[in-house]
Amino acid sequence: MSFSDLGLTPALLNILTNQEYENPYPIQKKVIPSIIEKQDLLGIARTGSGKTASFVLPILTNLQTSEISQNRHVNVLVLVPTRELATQVRDVFHIFSVGLPKPIKTMAVFGGASINPQMKAMRGVNVLVATPGRLIELVESNAVHLSAIETLVLDEADKMLNLGFKDEMNAIFKLLPQKRQNLLFSATLSENIEAITQFLLKNPVVVKIETGETNLDLIDQLAYDISEEKKGPLLRYLIKSQDMQQVLVFASSIFKVDNIAEKLTKNGIQAVATHSKKSSKARRDALHNFKAGKLRVLVTTDLLSRGIDIEFLPYVINYELPRSPKDYVHRIGRTGRAEAPGKALTLVTPQDQHHFKIIQKKMKRQVNRQDGNVINLQGY
Ligand code: AMP
Repeated sequence: MSFSDLGLTPALLNILTNQEYENPYPIQKKVIPSIIEKQDLLGIARTGSGKTASFVLPILTNLQTSEISQNRHVNVLVLVPTRELATQVRDVFHIFSVGLPKPIKTMAVFGGASINPQMKAMRGVNVLVATPGRLIELVESNAVHLSAIETLVLDEADKMLNLGFKDEMNAIFKLLPQKRQNLLFSATLSENIEAITQFLLKNPVVVKIETGETNLDLIDQLAYDISEEKKGPLLRYLIKSQDMQQVLVFASSIFKVDNIAEKLTKNGIQAVATHSKKSSKARRDALHNFKAGKLRVLVTTDLLSRGIDIEFLPYVINYELPRSPKDYVHRIGRTGRAEAPGKALTLVTPQDQHHFKIIQKKMKRQVNRQDGNVINLQGY
């Protein structure tokens, strides 16, 4: 089955070819026709499955034939948990909107950035990608109206709930017209997600894409047993000795993330810390530079472990273990994607042993081990 069999508007087929999307991914084959038919949908899929294009392409197709609303009435609302995901989804809309017969304007809005430019730019927007809090602020100041929404997308709904957006989401749902299409994407199917599904979706098509297993097959995992005090030198040794040029390092606290980046920089390894206490611009710049290959090491908390698509990331290092085994898989899932093999290295202290066993058990994989304590770390 090719993209031309899915009912997409013809102009999109050229853009797909230009973007080197040769064949639809499994999620796209299943989801695109249902969305074009205006059905509600529950998509259980994580980043890397191709879920973004699976809703962007049919939404753009439908907008080509629907009545485009005017002024500050947007047609499509995509709710996302983080500003990074907001800009990423907006970019996919932009890429696929170029050259469409009926022009489509997409805008991303999120907190942490000043609201005035967002209010001004709202005129003529057809697709709004928004984090819940900022959207409410914009609605309250009459910068945007939600009464003409034809399609609502909740992207990474589980993450939105985890981040505590439930009340904001409910407030937004009340502002939407009764008759509309609802699309909900989530990496997991928890009780909370089921509840929101029942409330929101009408006879949804359910699509479940298991990407976890296949992704793990692409990832070369290795754990280093190491004492707490030798972690810093080992990290620097690994980056230098393996000549890693693009590596994402995870730690569990903001304090630690700052500390690691600072020490790497002091030791001549270009590194930037990014986390929720950084400004929106700083976060965006860090991610942009890292993606563009201009930044060698990006150190972060679990904020970036989901939802952020970094193509061909060769290395992930877990400087500290995440609390949940699921987060471990999400973290290492940043690498080894799109058929590109990647390496995930984890530093395991004696205190971590038990927790790391649980992670491996949940993941149903045994990770190869190396004794980091016997490596000569002199000079690192
Ligand atoms: P997503 O799960 O939406 O974050 O997409 C993961 C990555 O796959 C992104 O870099 C997309 O550009 C890429 N992608 C999505 N669909 C296709 C496709 N059919 N062919 C090639 N690349 C794709």
